[in-house]
Amino acid sequence: MPKKNHTGMTFDKLIEHYFNIAADKINLNPEYLTFLKNPYRELQVQIPVRMDTGKLQIFLGYRVQHNAARGPYKGGIRFHPRVDLHDVRALASLMTWKSALVDVPFGGAKGGVACNPKKMSKEELQKVSRSFINKMDLVIGPHRDIPAPDVGTNEQIMAWMMDQYGIKHGHTPAIVTGKPVVLGGSPERQGATGRGVMYTALAAIKDMGMEPEQVSVAIHGFGNVGQFAAKLLQDEGCKIVAVGDSAGAVYNPKGLNLNDLIKHKQKNGSTVMGFSNGKDISNEELLALNCDVLIPASLEGIIDERNAPNVKAKVIVEGANGPLTLEGDRILEENGVIVIPDILANAGGVIVSYFEWVMNLQEFSWESKEINRELYKRLDKSYKEMVKVAKKENVSNRIAAFMIAISRVAEATHMRGI
Ligand code: GLU
Repeated sequence: MPKKNHTGMTFDKLIEHYFNIAADKINLNPEYLTFLKNPYRELQVQIPVRMDTGKLQIFLGYRVQHNAARGPYKGGIRFHPRVDLHDVRALASLMTWKSALVDVPFGGAKGGVACNPKKMSKEELQKVSRSFINKMDLVIGPHRDIPAPDVGTNEQIMAWMMDQYGIKHGHTPAIVTGKPVVLGGSPERQGATGRGVMYTALAAIKDMGMEPEQVSVAIHGFGNVGQFAAKLLQDEGCKIVAVGDSAGAVYNPKGLNLNDLIKHKQKNGSTVMGFSNGKDISNEELLALNCDVLIPASLEGIIDERNAPNVKAKVIVEGANGPLTLEGDRILEENGVIVIPDILANAGGVIVSYFEWVMNLQEFSWESKEINRELYKRLDKSYKEMVKVAKKENVSNRIAAFMIAISRVAEATHMRGI
């Protein structure tokens, strides 16, 4: 059974919906419509793993390659129990539009394994990671398809994947991005998605005539993206008043001490709840807080028609991919909430992945300062382009972002020939 949200829409259909609106707005050549909407290739594999208990467990793994008109396929690998082909398909197409919008020379892909990394040992995770790469060997490569981390994966998993690929092909750091720095990873890659969230949030805040010091922020999702976004926004002067995870949330109107909160989460079985420097609240309460910026940085479909009417934030910055359902998005738009869409807000990850890939191919390394400067330049330019199109065409930021991205992919397709 495909996983649907309670309104009956799968994630891939949601992205298709936005694609159709934007394609119509740019009068996309009808010959390109089916070609650009659908993935080029979808691969599903079995990953049999001998678990620590001695029992054999078979996991399902996926890689969807959506489009490579502008460069090799690129996108993360998600380890999560709820991963299915519909999600991976949606996420792969978002990668195509994201890479095109921020103008990195990549196409779009995504992978996933339906497993629960929180309940697996290091050995078991290593087996899944290595086996995934063996099974994908035919379709990946440093000039073909370059995986990266996503929800449930990290630099250790990328290291195993790089190592596994190298056993057959020789040392090839450019096969994955998001590696540890000692193995050719890029400085600042780990925090890049959160940094991009910070840059785009600040751009939106500035456009509203506010200073960071006046801004209160609530964040849903306190993994890699949420933690970096929180810390970097706090460094800029914003007040982080609430943070939530899958279990619940904590709130402190005076601002949370993030270092203590991270330590608490690690000690406390990976939830922020029960933090002494804040009050426990529910995630529903977090989403409805009277704050300026709300950052959904966990999973898709978090803001829907049930909670969107309660949102009081002026700006939503989509740290996660697809955190708003169609209805949620519509309600926020009606209520005048500014949404910075995922394909811009969380593009910092793939931008710094691009720098990492370039450094690996050149066997050269750049310094943090240069990386963050280049990251900022690209996001700032893309933000301005998006806002300009949105104003000119009288469409939402999301549709404007899709319009720019689809135009670029269509042009590349045209020049190459289908
Ligand atoms: N998983 C990240 C994303 O959704 C990063 C992808 C990459 O760096 O290739 O954008």
